[in-house]
Amino acid sequence: MADGPLLVFGPRSLAYDFGPRHPLSPRRFGPGIELLGHVGAEPGLAPEPAADDELEWLHTADYIATVRRFSADPGGPPEAGIGPGDDPAFAGMHEASAAVAGGSIRAIEAILRGDVDHAYHPGGGLHHAMRARASGFCIYNDAALAIARARRDELRVLYIDLDVHHGDGVQSLHYDDPGVMTVSFHESGRTLFPGTGLVGELGEGIAAGTSVNVPLEPLTGPEPWLSAVRTMVPVLAAAFGPDIVVSQHGADGHAWDPLAHMSLTTTSMGEAARLVDRMAHRYAGGRWLATGGGGYAVYHVVPRVWALTWLAGAHREAPRMLPASWRARWAGTAARWDDAPLPESFEDAPGLPIDRSIGRPAAEKNRRTVELVRTVTVPALLSVAEERGWWRFDGAVPESATRTAPAAEAPPARRETPTVVVPLTPAALDSLAVAPRAMSPADSALAAELLRAALRDGAVATGAVSGEWLVGVALAAPTPLDAVDRLVALGVAPEWRRGGLATAMLEALVEEQGRGGRALVALHTVAERDPLDPLPRAVRREVAERLLRRAFQERPLPPEVAAADPFALLAVHLPIGLPGDVVAAAESWLSRR
Ligand SMILES: [Zn+2]
Repeated sequence: MADGPLLVFGPRSLAYDFGPRHPLSPRRFGPGIELLGHVGAEPGLAPEPAADDELEWLHTADYIATVRRFSADPGGPPEAGIGPGDDPAFAGMHEASAAVAGGSIRAIEAILRGDVDHAYHPGGGLHHAMRARASGFCIYNDAALAIARARRDELRVLYIDLDVHHGDGVQSLHYDDPGVMTVSFHESGRTLFPGTGLVGELGEGIAAGTSVNVPLEPLTGPEPWLSAVRTMVPVLAAAFGPDIVVSQHGADGHAWDPLAHMSLTTTSMGEAARLVDRMAHRYAGGRWLATGGGGYAVYHVVPRVWALTWLAGAHREAPRMLPASWRARWAGTAARWDDAPLPESFEDAPGLPIDRSIGRPAAEKNRRTVELVRTVTVPALLSVAEERGWWRFDGAVPESATRTAPAAEAPPARRETPTVVVPLTPAALDSLAVAPRAMSPADSALAAELLRAALRDGAVATGAVSGEWLVGVALAAPTPLDAVDRLVALGVAPEWRRGGLATAMLEALVEEQGRGGRALVALHTVAERDPLDPLPRAVRREVAERLLRRAFQERPLPPEVAAADPFALLAVHLPIGLPGDVVAAAESWLSRR
């Protein structure tokens, strides 16, 4: 077998079959698996049904019993989402659905054991299934169950959903778990099933900020879609610090898909898969489970997206042309079912012929949506680091990278050494190590890099220092406006919290700002949290309010930010005697956000 992701496929994969007229057809496996074979992928793990106690990690025993009942007798009245429509009952549906779940669970176990870095389960990705209800062609949620398996080993999981439909089931099943970040790019629920996936669905309680949604307009097209993925995934991976990546690569975003309207190309979907692979290596020690998902142009699109996804994990370029023998083999069947000639190449040429393209207002709406998602879900420091060119989170894995999972990184124990609050200079930083979780991002070595870059760019910072450790940071970064800075970090390592250090650092910072005659603005959102041990959302807001109360005045949030993140807080510090034009500039910054 050629080197590449462990390919999950077996006879049972063909049994997940809602019938000949259903869009999610096992017909896709014939051309799909054969094309995978042409690029060097041979099945290495045949799915077998997951046990009931495994399904019960996320599904109710009642629901499993209901699926079993339909499985034995498909004729009963509709129940739990099963019946005429999207999820018709079929004989053997429990075993077939449990086998899809089993495939994803065994695949992630192979990764957890270290047998393989990457696995790919094209028959998986049934992301709509809910705790006690079938939905959107999905009975058991294999992707969410694989995540649950990794959580049993206490690994932190980043889930990336590239299907054109919102990954509602995976989101819902891990909505209150701060150890799972779900990120879904999808066609807006205004025009497409399942109707959810709004920016404001951010996660619950302590998990607030770990559910990220990027709803895009119909006809978005490949470049804006890819740009949204590139804008969000790397920076969120850096902020969250996953131990493993699980991704869903539905092929239904394609322009030729009969059920949706995103207008993507196989080229853009292959590029997104390569990005996910890079992020798995950069931020998760290379651990990556990819699944398939939707995709209803089963000859023209699905096989190519499967091959490109596997090739991304094999770290190989796609061949240009599809094999002539493959095209000859499937041309007739394709013409019968999809009624059009098969394409000639793996990747679509730019300007794939489609009837319509996105209008200007919809393109502008997409731009604003991505900006809003970033504002709310990306820690300010990381956002500003990209804007000001301090760091590229989509960079290659550094040569020297010896990444430890933040969960495994032991924070320094609090010592008797006194802690002092001092202005931070590049020279002072050279002799200090940043304590884990004193600030974003999750990786404290990367945090130290960002801090250095910030100071070189004219940022002002105060720090709390205990011995050789930097245990707290308050950082004001320049904005594009003269004399207006932004508070982008204010944090303290766990052992040193609740001792007044944040207040002391902020006071020192504000004094420094005042001396320079500079305004300081602060926007606190759900993104500002300790990714490993986050406080409940309302408590985070209270802490921010208490810290800012002395020197800052609260300002009204921009309406779209308030709608998405009602706990967000916008405040400004205007030192006495600040020139009128600086005040005006600060006010204009505040009103633009
Ligand atoms: Zn890889």
